[in-house]
Amino acid sequence: MEFGKLDKLMAEHEPSKEEQERILALNKREQLIEKCRRLNNQLKPRFDSNVYHCERCNDSGSYYQLEKVKYEVEGGEYEDEYLVCNRCECMKVRESLEALKHSGITEKMKRETFDNYRTDESWQKSIKEKAIKFLDSEETFFYIGGYTGSGKTKICSCILNKYVEREKAILYLVWRDFMADLMENIDNSNKLIKEAQDIEVLYIDDLYKFPPKDFEKRVLYGIINYRVNKGLKTIISSETKLKNSDAKEQYKYEDMINIDLAVAGRIWENAGNGEFVISIANEPKYNIRFRGNV
Ligand SMILES: [Zn+2]
Repeated sequence: MEFGKLDKLMAEHEPSKEEQERILALNKREQLIEKCRRLNNQLKPRFDSNVYHCERCNDSGSYYQLEKVKYEVEGGEYEDEYLVCNRCECMKVRESLEALKHSGITEKMKRETFDNYRTDESWQKSIKEKAIKFLDSEETFFYIGGYTGSGKTKICSCILNKYVEREKAILYLVWRDFMADLMENIDNSNKLIKEAQDIEVLYIDDLYKFPPKDFEKRVLYGIINYRVNKGLKTIISSETKLKNSDAKEQYKYEDMINIDLAVAGRIWENAGNGEFVISIANEPKYNIRFRGNV
């Protein structure tokens, strides 16, 4: 074969400029994939694998992946791929578990589920139905008022455990303990309040066991109002009913609406205008009645 002919043949088979660019880009992408794989293999655990193990990030809390990024230059739109470090999805579970650990939730509360919630009485059945409906409802507040021993914490724990199952970050506060913490840690109080405001799901237990002081009302309003604005799920149980439609009992001081009208109003509105506000009648334990959502 003549040399000239060979040159010509090679020139014909020489990848075009576009083809060369495509191969180069392909190589660049393969290198990027390789680098991504290498970095992911080198991830070192930062969190206790015994508490929760995640294959994806090897308990490091983050992982690498390629991400397409669109950008514009002088009117033209381009797309490029970059190696990015992402916060791993398991971090939400870890935070939730951590919150659960620090939340003060008892082992007994953790065992409360809708499956083992007893519905011998029709009012218990009704409470359970409302609690289940609340889980996926657009409404953000669930309020249950009634005397000690009527199973308020039980049903609220069932709701809370469902959210734990769904990997939501939760916080459980016994109101008087929370207030005591604030008083003892004035320097830290903003941080404690912020935590209660920001957490995905908040459960305030035993709200206003004693008549609240103005400071206490301000703290509660700050938390409730913030959570209403952010649309965050909030569960409240209290011996204090939100409001009572029973004419005899309507103007009792201990009803929330008389203690704190602003807060009671916000809760009422965001509990589906009372749909998820439950009051358990103040009857002897063996004869408790459920009065619907009033
Ligand atoms: Zn992970």
